[in-house]
Amino acid sequence: MKVLIIGGGPAGVSTGLYTLRAGIDTTIITNNKSALLKAEKIDNYYGFAEGISGEELYKNGLDGFKRLGGKVIDAEVTGAGYDECFTLSTDRGELGADVLVLANGVSRKAPDIKGLKEFEGRGVSYCAVCDAFFYRGKRVAVIGNGEYALHEAHILKKTSSEVILLTNGKNAPEYENCDSRKIKAIEGGEGVERVVFEDGEGMEISGIFVAIGTAGAADIAVKLGALTDGRYVKTDENMLTSIPGLYAVGDCAGGLMQVSKAVCDGAKAGTDIVRRSK
Ligand SMILES: Cc1cc2nc3c(=O)[nH]c(=O)nc-3n(C[C@H](O)[C@H](O)[C@H](O)COP(=O)(O)OP(=O)(O)OC[C@H]3O[C@@H](n4cnc5c(N)ncnc54)[C@H](O)[C@@H]3O)c2cc1C
Repeated sequence: MKVLIIGGGPAGVSTGLYTLRAGIDTTIITNNKSALLKAEKIDNYYGFAEGISGEELYKNGLDGFKRLGGKVIDAEVTGAGYDECFTLSTDRGELGADVLVLANGVSRKAPDIKGLKEFEGRGVSYCAVCDAFFYRGKRVAVIGNGEYALHEAHILKKTSSEVILLTNGKNAPEYENCDSRKIKAIEGGEGVERVVFEDGEGMEISGIFVAIGTAGAADIAVKLGALTDGRYVKTDENMLTSIPGLYAVGDCAGGLMQVSKAVCDGAKAGTDIVRRSK
């Protein structure tokens, strides 16, 4: 049995400690952007009399996982699928596993653009795999400039007549159809009709896909058909999602956004994976 964990923060590492110690082949994929790295000092976690910096706690976690024989791959996950086993697309190739654990925190970022919220579900989408179908033969745009945005653009290119990458003032990656002007507003009627740039010019468009930063747990869960409430992945008491073999732990599963809860979620998922493997 192979377990893949997306995320090297407290939730992912905690899950892996349980599966590793039960002899299960376990790999963590991380792009090293844990919320812990933003925490100057953690003063409310058990066992550190003087507190500990978030950076040190993050590093200690991964070092402990490696000491027990865990594999860590530094890569960014951009997409996921299921075909007899889970498959992950990353910027370093494809990976497969029997069990997939989402431990990638909360990262969905929506840019502050006038009209974006208003048109969610009416032309503004956060998932190319889910919604590309509705824009067959139409001109669409992806907002973003990283690996994740490129991944979404390539999915849309299969069905849409034109896919423009809007980097909203950020550097443009290598992609043939980019516009890096700052976006002022999204406008339309029943649905999205145009993007208006800060220079006053408009661009006619039928759909907008937001893909800022990296793929969040909810984005990946939706691609795999699991239930979310939009921002957080829904799970049962063992952190199992609505899809067999797919778990969600830590911040991405909602609730208390603290290290202690992330570690507890990992323990629940890890022990459940071990129990079901027997
Ligand atoms: C400023 C700040 C201060 C905080 N202070 C405290 C505190 O004092 N006490 C406390 O208990 N909690 C604190 N927290 C909260 C705590 O950091 C989080 O609750 C905890 O880190 C959640 O753990 P996690 O494993 O769920 O997610 P994270 O620690 O965020 O880890 C997510 C992991 O997923 C990886 N990842 C994400 N997307 C991808 C992708 N697409 N591909 C590959 N890897 C990916 C990241 O690189 C990272 O390794 C603080 C948070 C912040 C931001």
